Amino acid sequence: MTASLVDFHCHLDLYPDHVEAVQRAEEAGVFTLTVTTTPLAWARNHELTAETRHVRAALGLHPQLVSEREHELALWKELLPRTRYVGEVGLDAGPRFYKSFDRQKRVFGEILRTCAAAPGKILTVHSVRATKIVLDMVEQHLPRDRGRVVLHWFTGTPSEVKRATQLGCYFSVNAEMLANPKREAVNRAMPLDRLLTETDGPFTKVDGRPTRPEDVGAAVLGLARTHGTTADQMAATVLRNLKTLLAERI
Ligand code: MN
Repeated sequence: MTASLVDFHCHLDLYPDHVEAVQRAEEAGVFTLTVTTTPLAWARNHELTAETRHVRAALGLHPQLVSEREHELALWKELLPRTRYVGEVGLDAGPRFYKSFDRQKRVFGEILRTCAAAPGKILTVHSVRATKIVLDMVEQHLPRDRGRVVLHWFTGTPSEVKRATQLGCYFSVNAEMLANPKREAVNRAMPLDRLLTETDGPFTKVDGRPTRPEDVGAAVLGLARTHGTTADQMAATVLRNLKTLLAERI
């Protein structure tokens, strides 16, 4: 069975039953990138996805956890050769996390440089209230011939979309972003050939329960509306973009 939908950013290990969450995504035939927030969590995620056709695990160190987990950067580096997928990583300058911002920048810079030295990685990147600095750091530390960045839940401006596109970035877009009328201009600015979809489950909800990868069709539908096309055409576009991204040999 070939994957028909794409959830490029989901936290399957944060659902009540991790094993069931992986199986469900696999059976639904949704290409799912399950991200981790600490490198300690990666081994179990990797084990559960080692034999799956559609689910892959990414090695992360979440910016919101840097204040307690900075020391795990050594483990992150040790594990990196074992995976192509990195995330969730990035920067968060929101009020709750701003006090660790200098440390976050140090960790993210180190992650980008380590990826640049091990070409071909695909990174799913968090950039809350920090779009400009994230793009500055990607430009400085991860040249586009060294790795590929997917900006998750992008909240920058249309001109930052243009800059990110020039840096080679993709965008993974969720239904909540598309439901916000204030975000319409920026959502529309994202080029069709750089669009991916995500749920960011379980941090987003549908019908009062955590979103699951098989719910990602709502993001496809939202993107179709934003770009004036059909859901089927948009699903095909996203799938084609995924194939292009995965086939890139950097
Ligand atoms: Mn996330």
